[in-house]
Amino acid sequence: MQVFIAFVLAAAVLLFGQLALPAGRAAAPHREAAVVAAPAPAVAPPSVPAAAPAPAARPAARVHTVAAGESLSVIAARYSIDVDTLLGANPDAEELIHPGDELVVLPQKGVLHEVAAGDTLWAIAQAYGVDVAAVREANGREGDALAVGEKLFIPGGRPRGRTVSRAYGRQFVWPAAGGISSPFGYRWGRHHDGVDIAAEAGAPVRAARAGRVAFAGWYGGYGYMVLLEHGQGYATLYAHLDDYAVERGEYVATGQRIGHVGDTGYSFGPHLHFEVRQDGQAVNPLQFLP
Ligand SMILES: [Zn+2]
Repeated sequence: MQVFIAFVLAAAVLLFGQLALPAGRAAAPHREAAVVAAPAPAVAPPSVPAAAPAPAARPAARVHTVAAGESLSVIAARYSIDVDTLLGANPDAEELIHPGDELVVLPQKGVLHEVAAGDTLWAIAQAYGVDVAAVREANGREGDALAVGEKLFIPGGRPRGRTVSRAYGRQFVWPAAGGISSPFGYRWGRHHDGVDIAAEAGAPVRAARAGRVAFAGWYGGYGYMVLLEHGQGYATLYAHLDDYAVERGEYVATGQRIGHVGDTGYSFGPHLHFEVRQDGQAVNPLQFLP
């Protein structure tokens, strides 16, 4: 990670001619916004001050040092870019970020394109669906000469498949062993926001994906519950636990045991109620599970 960051930073310095700020100091004023507000099952992104500097003629990349509690989506919102832009500039950051990690923050939505043999400015602009003049201007170019290996900032460009598919694939594992005893969707006139997994009482419950514990404790009808945030707007929720083995703020790895299957709260017999939330909305967990 460090080596890679250094490499990208070097590229960014070459590209933009300057670094906007000393990274370590920059994180401090943001800490208040990073605190996750309430131990509620809905993961509302913290309100973010309108922070992003207006892009100048020569926009500067900057470095953001991750503060406690920050997710990729929170950081992206702070700089008025999107998670894809953040991921595109930090290919190693897809899974999990930690306080102290340094992320390259591009000046606006877009991607870094590494020039390959045979690339032309025109072809690159075409490939990303952006205007060639905008690419020239964003990189301070007069002419069209490119060097293999140099990095161009493509304003408004989207990562081409690779980043997104890698970010959304292969990251979830089953949180408990067992069949689905109740599916996602409407049942008995109300919406079931997750799936019920018919696991035995006392069986381990595992983090479906690496993340940070946003809540662990008693939550009304959910009984003992753990809520994990994973970045990119994803969260997973584990309910009716017999007990839990993690604390709020802790980082957990994919597959790490976070508690045991139980029958607490509004539950009829031991099972795991498992939810996946995307930007606060419950989505069908089965589309993410392998
Ligand atoms: Zn359920």
